[in-house]
Amino acid sequence: MDKCSLCGRKEIEVNMLFTGVDGHVCDECIERGYEILMEEKKSSDTFSIGDIKLLKPKQIKEFIDQYVIGQEYAKKVLSVAVYNHYKRLSQPSSKDDVDIEKSNIIMVGETGTGKTLLARTIAKMLHVPFAIVDATILTEAGYVGEDIESLLTRLLQAADYNVEAAERGIVFIDEIDKIARKGDNPSITRDVSGEGVQQGLLKLLEGSVVNVPPQGGRKHPDQKMIAVNTKNILFVCGGAFDGIKRVIAKRMNTQVVGYGSHKVQAQIDKENLLQYIVPDDIRKFGLIPEIVGRLPVLTHLEPLDREALKQILTEPKNSIIKQYEKLFKMDKIKLNFKDDALEFIVDQAISFKLGARGLRSICESIMLEAMFNMPSEDIKEFTVDRVYAEAKLDKSAIMKFKNVG
Ligand code: ADP
Repeated sequence: MDKCSLCGRKEIEVNMLFTGVDGHVCDECIERGYEILMEEKKSSDTFSIGDIKLLKPKQIKEFIDQYVIGQEYAKKVLSVAVYNHYKRLSQPSSKDDVDIEKSNIIMVGETGTGKTLLARTIAKMLHVPFAIVDATILTEAGYVGEDIESLLTRLLQAADYNVEAAERGIVFIDEIDKIARKGDNPSITRDVSGEGVQQGLLKLLEGSVVNVPPQGGRKHPDQKMIAVNTKNILFVCGGAFDGIKRVIAKRMNTQVVGYGSHKVQAQIDKENLLQYIVPDDIRKFGLIPEIVGRLPVLTHLEPLDREALKQILTEPKNSIIKQYEKLFKMDKIKLNFKDDALEFIVDQAISFKLGARGLRSICESIMLEAMFNMPSEDIKEFTVDRVYAEAKLDKSAIMKFKNVG
């Protein structure tokens, strides 16, 4: 009787036996072999640093693609920066003279275009502690507000006070543009929210051991501090940098004056000047040169057009519409959105000028009544069309706000 040449089981002991030139192999051995192959492939595709399994840049981008629509350039830049950052963590302490330097990131883009989402998605992928801090709450020591070190408190909290985990985490500093120096004269009075904060921040970006108040807020003398080394913490900064387009336009105008200038000028896409941003524009905007130098990876985000906003509603892995569908499904109601309703939501979001940020509040207003009533009604299916969406939104609080504004 034929038997598997690998495990030796006889034909009657297996579900299927495949016959080759010189022998046989059973279904179970094929399955087992396939599993081993897949495991092997997975581990050769990733780059392992301690408990962080790091994907290659292309795979990082594929992961981000599941959650973030568009922003191709920013995704590429971030994928490479994150990959290099964690490669840097894995380098054995300087055998040769080449030290890979830290690649902190700065993202410039209008509000609601996905800056926070990008940083959050990366943290999700890496399974490292992640904290979001708004730069506007930070002030120089001695002033009202939170000490700069408190942004590490958030990270410690996100890491359940595991200092080692926090020391390889990611901090997203939002609204970094709000701590820019105001005006060209930095020395009129002490600049509470500007340069002092930047100096403090610099220490963290550079990499140093910082005493962090475990509960945040202001430091007080009898508080026990936790020492955190920021050397391997990845800082990602984001900001809208309102008005930076003028800085870019001015620089580009002066650059193109002279011989052959109209040829260059013709190629400038005036609608999207952010794509030409260089570190010096950020400095001119009011960040001190040392900070600019410590944020070597500069990228910009594109404004979101109609098509992108519509995609954001339905396509990402946890898109807003998918979330509502799930909520309704839990009450055994099949929820549908007609295309004209989606178009209507996008139109409204555009008129609110909040990028994708407006989408959720518009949807919430439209869905409120249904979410309130339907769980106690005997309904199997519910369809939202434009007429319904328009009627509900008209009556909602956000429209009142919009009409006043
Ligand atoms: P920013 O930080 O640029 O102001 P966020 O990342 O906080 O904007 O975006 C606000 C919300 O809008 C996010 O929670 C997300 O649901 C959605 N969003 C924004 N941009 C995108 C995008 N490019 N792809 C998918 N969703 C997006």
